[in-house]
Amino acid sequence: MSDLALEHLTKIYPGSETPAVEGVSLNVESGSLTALLGPSACGKSTILKMIAGLLTPTSGDIRFAGSSVLKQPPQSRDAVMVFQDHLLFPYLTVGENVGFGLKMRVQAKAKINRAVGEILELVQLSGLEQRKPSELSGGQQQRVALARALILRPRILLLDEPFSNLDESLRLEMQTLLKSLHAEMKTTMLFVTHDQEEAITLADKIALLLSGRLRQYDIPQNLYNHPKDREVAQFFGARNFISGRVEAGKFDCPLGQIVLPENAPADGRLLTIRPENIVIGSNASSDNSFPATIASKKFLGSQTRLELDATGQELTVLLSPNIAESLQAGTEIIIQLPRQSLWVLP
Ligand code: ADP
Repeated sequence: MSDLALEHLTKIYPGSETPAVEGVSLNVESGSLTALLGPSACGKSTILKMIAGLLTPTSGDIRFAGSSVLKQPPQSRDAVMVFQDHLLFPYLTVGENVGFGLKMRVQAKAKINRAVGEILELVQLSGLEQRKPSELSGGQQQRVALARALILRPRILLLDEPFSNLDESLRLEMQTLLKSLHAEMKTTMLFVTHDQEEAITLADKIALLLSGRLRQYDIPQNLYNHPKDREVAQFFGARNFISGRVEAGKFDCPLGQIVLPENAPADGRLLTIRPENIVIGSNASSDNSFPATIASKKFLGSQTRLELDATGQELTVLLSPNIAESLQAGTEIIIQLPRQSLWVLP
């Protein structure tokens, strides 16, 4: 069942000519963890705020479990938003911050205390009930913000770049926590991020937005390996684009004839292969093998990047530094483009 549906959602800010969000339609499955991914200013936060009721759409509809919520104020929508800068009440203790929403709903003190204890255990903050936010680390504050939202058991939890202010190791820790909270509570979660790695690691499905439009909504593997078009491919780090045309199951291009995977679209004009999927040093007689010259080599840490010239076609390859060690700029090599790693774009 779809818990949240966006239908042709559009937002044009007053005084602006171009829509910040344009015609976005999306069905978010009940209990899923979905990423709203895209570069800065592509409209991600605007969508989240419209769902939460903090902004009114210019047109389109937002449905929770089938019913439009456009006429409902934020507090009556069953959606809670967690912001990047967690906005805790500085003079309240951790326990009071977390219990605040239940207190507003006039629940009995004993019940609130029990719920606070349970949720703090889930976010691994037991024992810190009496601390003030200023006595917590950034990661702990973000946990309090999560607990404060989750205690309300919302139908939908909205997270706006929840971990972008945290350093790398803390971010990984919080991602793991979010994943386990999601598994435990089965709340429908929609989180905004500009970080494709974060989206790939966490999300069941990713909605990729570019310039206010939804460009692809799919499982992470498909956005990565089967992008819909060149821009989506580029956003996911694709570098190799070979122009040509499909003729009888092969791709005719300056490199020669490349044998395509079955079911490749006959009208494709662009072939792409991810830099990590190009094989170096294969046998010249095996399928899809071509000569190339190494134009440059760059050590990147966990990988080494080679820029190749294959009969005038520029190709980027990423490979393990061990394998790259014996290769130098100027060396002539044989590369193989494995058939199953090829993807044809319109
Ligand atoms: P993202 O979250 O993807 O970074 P936003 O949704 O914040 O993007 O913004 C999308 C676009 O809308 C941007 O061009 C931004 O400048 C514009 N925008 C955001 N908020 C407002 C506002 N209150 N008034 C006018 N324009 C805005």
